Amino acid sequence: MNSGLRDISSLIKNEVLGFIASPEASEVGRVMQVGDGIIHAIGLDNVMSGELVRFDDDVMGIAMNLELNGVSIVLLGGMKGIREGALVRRTGKIAEVPAGDALLGRVVNAIGEPLDRKGPIRTGKYRPIERVAPGVLARRTVNVPLLTGIKAIDSMIPIGRGQRQLIIGDRQTGKTAIAVDTIINQRDKNVKCVYVAIGQKMSTVADITKTLADRGALDYTVIVAAGAAEPVTMQYLSPYSGVAMGEEWMQNGDDVLIVYDDLSKHAAAYRTMSLLLRRPPGREAYPGDVFYLHSRLLERAGRLNTENGGGSITALPIIETQAGDMSAYIPTNVISITDGQIYLETVAFNSGIRPAINPGLSVSRVGSSAQVKAMKKIAAPIRMELAQYRELASFAQFSSDLDDETRARLRHGERIVETLKQEQFSPFRLEDEILVLYATVKKYLNDVNIEKILPFENGLVEYFRSNYGGLMEEVAEKGLEPDLEGKIIRGIEQYRQFVHEEHIF
Ligand code: ATP
Ligand code: MG
Repeated sequence: MNSGLRDISSLIKNEVLGFIASPEASEVGRVMQVGDGIIHAIGLDNVMSGELVRFDDDVMGIAMNLELNGVSIVLLGGMKGIREGALVRRTGKIAEVPAGDALLGRVVNAIGEPLDRKGPIRTGKYRPIERVAPGVLARRTVNVPLLTGIKAIDSMIPIGRGQRQLIIGDRQTGKTAIAVDTIINQRDKNVKCVYVAIGQKMSTVADITKTLADRGALDYTVIVAAGAAEPVTMQYLSPYSGVAMGEEWMQNGDDVLIVYDDLSKHAAAYRTMSLLLRRPPGREAYPGDVFYLHSRLLERAGRLNTENGGGSITALPIIETQAGDMSAYIPTNVISITDGQIYLETVAFNSGIRPAINPGLSVSRVGSSAQVKAMKKIAAPIRMELAQYRELASFAQFSSDLDDETRARLRHGERIVETLKQEQFSPFRLEDEILVLYATVKKYLNDVNIEKILPFENGLVEYFRSNYGGLMEEVAEKGLEPDLEGKIIRGIEQYRQFVHEEHIF
């Protein structure tokens, strides 16, 4: 090293050592390195992990890696003119977001700042983004249904309030559609919703916002958006911010539904951030604690007992798979920390079976105890009959002459498949789901042409509404008691006769 360089290096060294030794270094730091949204600073001796720090011009960051003689800080927002040598100060606060009903109807970013030009969020309540999940003793069992309004899910893969149910599938298989429909179905059901959009295009987020607003669902929903163009830090923080907002309502006794769309992009954002922080990469280059990333998030969902407010958070995390591979690293992690999954398939989606749910690979481990009695009874055979039908259908396509019994079973299976199809934005009321599924399972549709199934069912629902008002509500409440079931059968037969006489189908 020539003498000039040596001088400079010793100058810097003295400067740095002098700063580290100074009393202000416990509260203040000096920027040593800037790059890719990550700042390395010396000083800040007393800073806490996860603490907010402030640069000049009110640029904020979060202290992530606490090291000997320094701290790695991730920036919230742009790098706006931060240079080597700049000062950075402690705030003494862990990152927090606004909470409370002022958020309903709003679109905010990962730190709770409005993105929707509707003015500031007026609330006096703030909550830390990171929080330890409630323990076992603070919880109670899941036994109240969280209805999606989607027949296939409410019957075969029921979800209960406080459950964590994964929606998993390749790209463009209708994952978001299920989550959004579920939010729409919470209208008048006293459930507040949080939709967290992670790494999506902002145009997609705008579409979803409009969809919810048009259907009156934005009034009870807050959207937390960290778009694809935002720094990875914001994408990383957004689900924790969303659940922090939900926790405020949960602790006040409300039921909350939160959607994380999606955690694959969240994991990728965390990987980028970790690599920039020089944390050692592991499998698929994710850092070693990527499991903890999602487990600590999903553990914050659940149902509290009455002493703790009695509210709940139901979580619908979404994971995107590549070529249907559920056994990749992130999918298996998230499968293991949820209470079940809804598995969507491209092949089914493209063949018109929408929602494209694979009943064999989808499961709900806790939701059936939250299902109403009547639905539980009617739904019980559906999954099995569908599985048998699939098997039979794959054999039957090779043989030309089938015996009558096989033909009848195929006919029945086709009608179950048809009944479980459902358009987007057309949630069913529980009573109507029970009626339609009852008629299907009890083979009242087996002589209806396949393309007439949906109109036939819609007509049935209408017919009951005008002629048997209140009956299905009673069934949903009390179960399929013999006298009630008798009335349903009579109603369906009358409807069939009416349809026949009027030559409607
Ligand atoms: P991505 O991987 O891009 O996030 P995704 O899996 O979330 O996709 P969606 O965006 O929900 O899928 O749906 C893909 C397309 O399929 C959309 O155009 C949507 O309108 C349509 N779609 C989804 N569900 C249904 C349905 N039940 N009936 C008809 N169309 C549907
Ligand atoms: Mg989507």
